[in-house]
Amino acid sequence: MLDVLTTHTSTGFRDDEARLAAVRRRDAAADGAFLYSVATTGVYCRPSCAARPALRHNIAFHATRQDAERAGFRPCKRCHPDLPPRAEREAALVAAACRMIEASEEAPALASLAAEAGISPHYFHRMFRRIAGVTPKAYGAAHRQARVQASLAAGAGVTEAIYHAGFNSSGRFYATADAMLGMTASHYREGGPGEMIQHAFGHCSLGSVLVAATGRGVCAILLGDDEAALQADLRARFPKAALRAAGPEFAGWVAQVVAFVEHPGGSDALALPLDIRGTVFQRRVWEVLRAIPPGETLSYAAVAAKLGQPAAVRAVAGACAANSLAVAVPCHRVVASTGALAGYRWGVQRKRALLARERA
Ligand SMILES: [Zn+2]
Repeated sequence: MLDVLTTHTSTGFRDDEARLAAVRRRDAAADGAFLYSVATTGVYCRPSCAARPALRHNIAFHATRQDAERAGFRPCKRCHPDLPPRAEREAALVAAACRMIEASEEAPALASLAAEAGISPHYFHRMFRRIAGVTPKAYGAAHRQARVQASLAAGAGVTEAIYHAGFNSSGRFYATADAMLGMTASHYREGGPGEMIQHAFGHCSLGSVLVAATGRGVCAILLGDDEAALQADLRARFPKAALRAAGPEFAGWVAQVVAFVEHPGGSDALALPLDIRGTVFQRRVWEVLRAIPPGETLSYAAVAAKLGQPAAVRAVAGACAANSLAVAVPCHRVVASTGALAGYRWGVQRKRALLARERA
């Protein structure tokens, strides 16, 4: 499974031999790195195209579709090398549906989400689930829960938070609160006994990534060099939960997290529900962090001042260190008042690399 999760860069397909090998094994990881054309058919394809293998002397390689078309080739009707990769198109549709769910007071009907995406409800539901890891309904529930938590953390009263989150009566909120939290609030914070947390590893330019999720969303994104140490860290953060290695259906989530870690300032925000846990103070700190734009930083003292608790600088640093969601809760954007990077739970080198990437 690890191979599937590894992100490839185009550096792997530098010579024709490597490109030909990628075409022969229909390597989807080579898609985007180059295209190939077949002289006998006059079409050009992605490396992963399922078309019948061509003879070596009929194959030519092209860096871009413009190159291929200038050389007189037409896009293949099977692999659509002239369109963004299917995974990218589907991810864009799912991301658009997530935005629609988030913007709606009431959860939109499956039929209207599917109509917006231009595909059948059945196929849409399967695609959403495969890419987002949860059903559209569960995504909406997790999002409403996050809005309740954010409103509460921002100091709103319970009733206000409930209405703000799109529940039109507090009765409905209390009826679903148990399903959303699954347990009482104090258990929820610590990972309740018997709660199941699935996790898997991926690889990014910063090293290994551990992604963990409960039924409600991603609860941990941890960075490190060593998978055993990452797993021990997860265990320490959720001492009572049952940790289980995730199945292959989790690969979509890991891939999304890896892409997000690689481009935290990119246009695609992480479109996965987050299961954020912490004390009220920690959540208030994390909300401030999530409002810092990519590439910008705040000092620990400035975060404390924003909370209206200017003396709480050490407590802010503690909340940053307690963060379980690397990059998604961007504690790497908090630095010392001198501008020095100060500490980072996942190593100052990674903090430096993340900030440099966001500023590029
Ligand atoms: Zn093709």
